[in-house]
Amino acid sequence: MNFDEMFSLKGRKALVTGAGGGIGKSYATALAMAGADVAIVDLNEKTGVKTANELAQTYGIDSFFVACDVSSEESVNAMITEVVSRFGRLDIGVNNAGIGILGADEDYELDAWNKVIGINLTGAWLCCRAEAKIFIQQKTGGKIINTASMSARICNCNASYNASKGGIVEMTRMLAAEWGKYNINVNCISPSYILSPMHASTPLEARARIRELTPLGYVERPEDLRGPLIFLASAASDYVTGVDLLVDGGHTLNAWLAPLERELPPRISPEEEIVQLKNDLTALEVPFDEHGINRDLHPEIANAYRYMLKIED
Ligand code: NAD
Repeated sequence: MNFDEMFSLKGRKALVTGAGGGIGKSYATALAMAGADVAIVDLNEKTGVKTANELAQTYGIDSFFVACDVSSEESVNAMITEVVSRFGRLDIGVNNAGIGILGADEDYELDAWNKVIGINLTGAWLCCRAEAKIFIQQKTGGKIINTASMSARICNCNASYNASKGGIVEMTRMLAAEWGKYNINVNCISPSYILSPMHASTPLEARARIRELTPLGYVERPEDLRGPLIFLASAASDYVTGVDLLVDGGHTLNAWLAPLERELPPRISPEEEIVQLKNDLTALEVPFDEHGINRDLHPEIANAYRYMLKIED
């Protein structure tokens, strides 16, 4: 296998859930850059159609939007049928759609718990199952990549979110063990704090603290996940399965009590951290300040940081 055969995805057919913005859009962009045709699967039609059009125009690939609520079995099965009928086959499934609803666990509502688990964990499982059925029928094998989180390893959000991500890691390992016999690789990627619309309300003080506590010294961008995604989607990872690939700039390694000192400036500046975030917020048609902050998009996340860092209004 030469270098190109190892990493190129030319002509491969892929789908990415939650691809209208944030991490999913960056994953879809990476697949398109590597030559794959990509179905953009999302609840949000406006951002999904925009992403599909952008990728088709920029990379000359086939890309289209499919509306889907990943927490609904019917919706996921209809989405897979549509993707396979338009592409004629499927090679790569990236199951990334997810949400967080923060809140103190002693007062947390059952509805919120069910929603987070229903989208993050059950939704990913429904997609894995539907994709595997196609790969098994095709007798081609395939690549499944789920989005977990460093929250599967550290206690930083709340029980529903962290349990959903811990569940993704164990589900990924189990499915990898079961489906290896069909040449299906099942892996997941665990990002740290990412500057996607999910984090558009994170205060500047929290970004500064994250930089101080992260050995590589900057807040993770959706773009930082492109290389890891291509590795797991391509032939380069043919013998890798059941793995949770942590991509966190070393954040979860840090056991020091003091902020980390730097010898060199980080590779990415604060201005460069927010390039995709600003594009995503523009696509969502929500206003933002020069730092890419919109305090009203996720007030519960903003409040959690304000509480932890004792930020006064
Ligand atoms: P985001 O909110 O910016 O984007 C999520 C996308 O998923 C949106 O386009 C949204 O419309 C779509 N979506 C939401 N519910 C859906 C549903 N039921 N069906 C289909 N699509 C749905 O979030 P993001 O930061 O890009 O997060 C993507 C994934 O990464 C999630 O699984 C999240 O838990 C995970 N993650 C995020 C971070 C972070 O800091 N942002 C860190 C680790 C893991």
